[in-house]
Amino acid sequence: MTGKYATEQLGADAEGIGRAAAILREGGLVAIPTETVYGLAARADSEAAVARIYTAKGRPGFNPLIVHVASQERATQFATFDAPARELAERHWPGPLTLVLPALPDNGLAPAVSAGLPTIALRCPEHPVMRAVLTELDLPLAAPSANRSGSVSPTTAAHVLATLDGRVDAVINGGECQGGLESTIAAVRGDGRIEELRPGPITFASGRHLRTDHPIEAPGQLASHYSPGKPLRLNATGGADDEFLIGFGTVEGDCGLSPSGDLVEAASRLYACLHEAAASDRPRIAVAPVPNEGIGRAINDRLRRAAVPVD
Ligand code: AMP
Ligand code: MG
Repeated sequence: MTGKYATEQLGADAEGIGRAAAILREGGLVAIPTETVYGLAARADSEAAVARIYTAKGRPGFNPLIVHVASQERATQFATFDAPARELAERHWPGPLTLVLPALPDNGLAPAVSAGLPTIALRCPEHPVMRAVLTELDLPLAAPSANRSGSVSPTTAAHVLATLDGRVDAVINGGECQGGLESTIAAVRGDGRIEELRPGPITFASGRHLRTDHPIEAPGQLASHYSPGKPLRLNATGGADDEFLIGFGTVEGDCGLSPSGDLVEAASRLYACLHEAAASDRPRIAVAPVPNEGIGRAINDRLRRAAVPVD
């Protein structure tokens, strides 16, 4: 126990899902597995519930949250979908794509969800547990990653409890997340352009997106994020005695992202390896080079930010 709540541990069964929905309906916080990472959910239509997410995470108020919905039809109640946005949602939902779209006026969402921006970030997740909670509740859920702000994202219930035990009402234990990296975030502009605000599991054909570094729109792109709390060295082909080496391919480590060099496997194991490295008794971390192609771009994006010291 590190905080003022006794965090309930729920099973990923009908009873656990029912209990989670009841806690959420009352304005509580529940960590829920998704296909990307565990999300810290609260009802998105309640200013008080959303405020509790920011407090539990220690998240700066300028960093907006992703709103999760059960279907594309539900999403259209909150934001304007033009033809390119509809096409993206139809192609990738349910799945690990977040769309940043113009918010509809008076959409009933708590203003704090979008940190005062005129846009809203929406995602329709695929994970059966998250979908079951959304369906049972029939309410939109704000859900950033279920970790203290700035630290490594959780891919197991144990990772969630490592930083949020006693700070949230409950966690549903749904085992390991399959994807392991946060969703791709794409903004659809009025002229049909798609801007990738955060690389992730959904990769767009080259030329279909533009990068942006707009700090308010994509605080996930803050220089230091996903920090394991120790110095981290990139592109290491071997580890020093005081380093915990995270391997990839032929670089064997204390923990391997993917010995066979499979980038999808590496994405699913990245945060588990960073958690293991953080917990080890070695004061430094080194990570083998990961090819910058496909989902490797998202892996390298997270690693670069994990390597920037927290000030
Ligand atoms: P997290 O779920 O902790 O990975 O954080 C949610 C991410 O969604 C952050 O990187 C936010 O910057 C991003 N986000 C949420 N809402 C918006 C928005 N309206 N415009 C741009 N980015 C957003
Ligand atoms: Mg996060």
